[in-house]
Amino acid sequence: MIVAGIDIGSVSTKIALAVNGKIHKVIIPTGWSPRQAGKHVLATALDQAGIDDKVDFVVVTGYGRIALPTANKAVTEITCHARGVAYLLPETRVVIDIGGQDSKVIKIGRQGRVLDFVMNDKCAAGTGRFMEVIAARLGVDVTELSDLGKNEIPIEINSMCTVFAESEVVGLLAKGKAKGQIVAGLHKAIASRMSAMVERMNPELPIIFTGGVAQNKSLVHSLSTQLNIPVLVPEDCQFTGAIGAMLIAGEMAQAACHTIPVREEF
Ligand code: ADP
Repeated sequence: MIVAGIDIGSVSTKIALAVNGKIHKVIIPTGWSPRQAGKHVLATALDQAGIDDKVDFVVVTGYGRIALPTANKAVTEITCHARGVAYLLPETRVVIDIGGQDSKVIKIGRQGRVLDFVMNDKCAAGTGRFMEVIAARLGVDVTELSDLGKNEIPIEINSMCTVFAESEVVGLLAKGKAKGQIVAGLHKAIASRMSAMVERMNPELPIIFTGGVAQNKSLVHSLSTQLNIPVLVPEDCQFTGAIGAMLIAGEMAQAACHTIPVREEF
């Protein structure tokens, strides 16, 4: 059986394509067209897997899911993330996910059932885009923030609105403050904000951190320090939504039992 889960995020589009039990993963920038990104990531994964054109079922998730009506089913990212994390780490009870444009905390039960969640998708504070803007202002790439902020004494950052935080960073640089201390301060401020969301969920262990931003090890450390509990990051932290969508596609394919010529319809 061949099934796919596509997660069209605000920053990156991910696919998990399962071909007879083997999972192929591809990630590309979403760019200006979520529809094109969804089509492109599927074609790339099919090429990588050496598949001609037949897929049994495609589930699409993420903020851009409505842009891909040709998929068999659209499912919310909360449901897909919970399923994906429960597959990667079955004991998970709380998931923190920070993506490009939103952050969420999901409380999950057995087999990835969603029990409760809180989501911030109203402002960019502490999200991947926020980190990108600050990194650019510091003249570094977002992937360098972790090393830059590691073992540094955090400077207090008061603004979390992207625009004001950027101005605050400009002011701190003008005063001669070290980049590492500024980054450590940002990590601390984001960790404090996320901790408040986690505590509203009456968290049970273990706590798992997913999304692209979870690759920032210094931020993971700040979060763990702030919560005073270990925070784990699965190896496929940016793919949890796509993997969850792929698992749901597998179940739906078995129920529907039909095959679509994906390349033609997409
Ligand atoms: P979305 O699903 O909303 O597109 P993702 O979960 O794919 O979001 O996360 C995208 C964000 O992840 C980017 O905005 C960037 O800030 C962050 N990111 C990606 N790679 C890294 C990395 N290696 N280290 C730190 N942050 C990263």
